[in-house]
Amino acid sequence: MTAIKQTHIIDRLGSNSKHKFIIVGGMHGNEVNGVAAIEQILPRLKQVFDKQTGQIWFLKGNVPALKVGERFIDKDLNRLWLDEYIHSEDTTTADFQSLRVLHDLIINDICHGRFDNCVFLDLHTFSAKSGIFAIPASNQKSIEFARSFGVPFIERLSEMLPGTALQYLGQKGMTSVVFEGGTHNTPEATRNLAAGIWHSLAQAGFIKNDFPEVLQSRQLLIDISKDLPHHLELTYRHKLDRYQDFTMQPGYYNFKPVQKSESLAVQNKQVVQSPSGGFMLMPLYQKKGSDGFFIVKEK
Ligand SMILES: [Zn+2]
Repeated sequence: MTAIKQTHIIDRLGSNSKHKFIIVGGMHGNEVNGVAAIEQILPRLKQVFDKQTGQIWFLKGNVPALKVGERFIDKDLNRLWLDEYIHSEDTTTADFQSLRVLHDLIINDICHGRFDNCVFLDLHTFSAKSGIFAIPASNQKSIEFARSFGVPFIERLSEMLPGTALQYLGQKGMTSVVFEGGTHNTPEATRNLAAGIWHSLAQAGFIKNDFPEVLQSRQLLIDISKDLPHHLELTYRHKLDRYQDFTMQPGYYNFKPVQKSESLAVQNKQVVQSPSGGFMLMPLYQKKGSDGFFIVKEK
């Protein structure tokens, strides 16, 4: 394996190649809690993991962006998972290089081109002040996996957001889920993401369901989402071409109810109104990002 590939590997457990679980932290380089959560659970997991169960791969996403604490260097790595970019000759930007290295590592070195026995969990955080949720790829096994977390899960988001690793790997046939654990750089986000890892490892059969960390983690996920809507679908994406000119109104957070025509943001000096009622999702309170907000509805 090449040296640059090695920089993406945090750790790898297990010898049995029948079942594989891939967990990525830092697909966005400013989202350091995913890597922190992996490092937090690893010592305990190593004590209790039965090597015969399968392989667990812990990876870093955008390594150069993690080094500088930015969402990405030039292009959002989590919008580049499209054949035109994966197979392009573009070597000018670090993010294209990260894309191709990570793609080759997952598709060839880990999965060996077989995806029905691979689970992909992508750990993220957001700039809004509260909320927790899972996003499945659009295949049924991913939807069931996302549902199992006990936190809100949002259908149709993966289809509406081109170029995510989530959807790319889901379309290959993997069980593929994004877990959004909380606000960037908060201890709660690391705690929640660690809980999501324990839950999902047990859900996928890599550790026992009655293991203490699993039971505690599942209770935590239920407790922190007890007042939130559970099953949602995306109804609107406010895509941005020039995020510099976009300012979200203050006070929005994940799952805050919004009314039709409510003033949500200012873009190019124009008021942006909500196209419908529903719940706010991922309001943008940071500079870098290609989406201003999303509107979701209960399903
Ligand atoms: Zn992210």
